[in-house]
Amino acid sequence: MHRLTLYILLLCPLINFSQEITLDRVEPPFWWTGFKNPDLQLLVYGKNIALTTVSVSYPGFVLKKVNKVENPNYLFLDLTISHNAKPGIATILFKIKDKETAKYLYELNPRKKGSAQRKSFTSHDIIYLLMPDRFSNGDAANDLATFMAEQVNRSNQDGRHGGDIKGIMNHLDYFQDLGVTTLWINPLLENNIAKYSYHGYSTTDYYKIDPRFGTNEDYVKLSESLHQRGMKLIKDMIFNHCGIGNWWMKDLPSSDWVNQWPEFTRTNYRAGTFTDPYASQSDSNMFVRGWFDITMPDLNQANPYVKNYLIQNSIWWVEYAGLDGIRQDTHPYPFKEMMAEWGKRLQTEYPDFNVVGECWLNYPASVAYWQKGSKNKDGYDSWLPTVFDFPLYDALNKAFSEPEGWNTGIVRLYEILAQDFSYPDPNNIVVFADNHDVNRYLDSQKDDVWKLKMAMAYILTTRGIPEIYYGTEILMTSGPDKSGDGSKRKDFPGGWAGDSRNAFTAQGRTEAENDMYNYLSKLIHWRNANEVVHTGKFRHFIPADGIYVYFRYNDQSTVMVVMNNNEETKTIETKRYNEFLKRFKSGTEIISGNSLNDLSKLTIPGKSTLIIQLK
Ligand code: CA
Repeated sequence: MHRLTLYILLLCPLINFSQEITLDRVEPPFWWTGFKNPDLQLLVYGKNIALTTVSVSYPGFVLKKVNKVENPNYLFLDLTISHNAKPGIATILFKIKDKETAKYLYELNPRKKGSAQRKSFTSHDIIYLLMPDRFSNGDAANDLATFMAEQVNRSNQDGRHGGDIKGIMNHLDYFQDLGVTTLWINPLLENNIAKYSYHGYSTTDYYKIDPRFGTNEDYVKLSESLHQRGMKLIKDMIFNHCGIGNWWMKDLPSSDWVNQWPEFTRTNYRAGTFTDPYASQSDSNMFVRGWFDITMPDLNQANPYVKNYLIQNSIWWVEYAGLDGIRQDTHPYPFKEMMAEWGKRLQTEYPDFNVVGECWLNYPASVAYWQKGSKNKDGYDSWLPTVFDFPLYDALNKAFSEPEGWNTGIVRLYEILAQDFSYPDPNNIVVFADNHDVNRYLDSQKDDVWKLKMAMAYILTTRGIPEIYYGTEILMTSGPDKSGDGSKRKDFPGGWAGDSRNAFTAQGRTEAENDMYNYLSKLIHWRNANEVVHTGKFRHFIPADGIYVYFRYNDQSTVMVVMNNNEETKTIETKRYNEFLKRFKSGTEIISGNSLNDLSKLTIPGKSTLIIQLK
């Protein structure tokens, strides 16, 4: 689709020296007719491109303003696309003294039917998070990308292992067998840097899938294949920082394109400075303007060109790849006014579109600040529909591994949910036990599978949108060496030709792995079929003696969940839960399939969960 037509390099006739002019990039490389917002700002990059005069001749596609910045190798073109503009190809001409020096054929594509009305991920879905370099290597040929700065080396846990889009495509049946409905794939955009390029969080080209993962077309094909199966795709995006190897770092449009410091200055990672009424200016400043890492320059979203670049880039990918959602990395780190404008512009074009922001904060009130519609004292509205439930993640990691006490043990889960009054939309929160940045849940529970099952039962029955990290279903752990991020992001066994076993198949899994896989798959498929767990109301009872009971209910259906956090089996009298139970005579426990014909007493094995569909 890149139709970069360049024929350039002419002498400027009235100047007595030659001035080389090139046209190297136009971004976004193409656009669409029919958006609500008629404005489009093009970044144009090429040697001395700012010396040219630009013109556009196309009905309904009007060049309003040509913006020059410090660096003469850039132009920013403000264009409008009128509502009656027809799809087609517009010619953008670059001239010096009436002589054409370059031109770009700019495609205005028609939007796909129903594009604006697309349904996004919701609490009906189950998100499966995978790291593409570590999931499956479907195309060994793209491992040999010798033109890239880092080569495949599977023996290095921090190196590239060769996983790719083809590897994900090869396992669509696997996802459906497990039952997950939505893929969140860690970033796939080009990361052309010498080290740690595998995780994808150091973008070097915002419009290009990394060739070691595949092509832009492969990504679109993946999206379409998921849609054919009724599945959804979430793209991981990063507005806060780019990678040090980004093409523009060698030749910045202006000195304020990135936040610059006299010497390298790291962010303090304290996202709470935004909501802290006592935060010092220097702390707040360092949080927003400090660099995330030496290799991750901090973008200055207060610069209007940076702002438009990022916002348009996200809309471009939604429209181009037919995305069903976005996960925004380090959401509070960019300038928050820009992030709110982004959300607003995205939702103007796609009213039902969902975005989940990584607002990694420890308290519900701090996280709730970032959810759209929050009544914040400072008047800020983020326009971010969904946040990750980090406080609940934290509670979940402690709840099953410590003695029961007034504020320890399973009561932690109860206490976190009791603070849901902070959230404008508590059911639109992503709940998870782990992800690519933290210890795998089994590691934090010292390999206790019972606790992992409890955590999975919980995130699949509590309010919100569950997220499961790849490999959880096969008991993946960091192994003996738990150091470094690489250990949390191991290769999925069977994802590489020549692997000693293939854990994508029941035959390739151990007995214990199959037990976990089957438990999870059963629970997931049951959840998929039961609306009451997606949108039903939630009501819980104060935990007592290590037993936590909650209900999900709507007009049609009621589900009772009983968690036993004791090591030993417990039999409980259920009179206390009569405000729900009095209407029911029996129930079915969904994992065992057992019928329960006497609900007055329930017996629950130690460290386990009963999920009872009441009748
Ligand atoms: Ca590969």
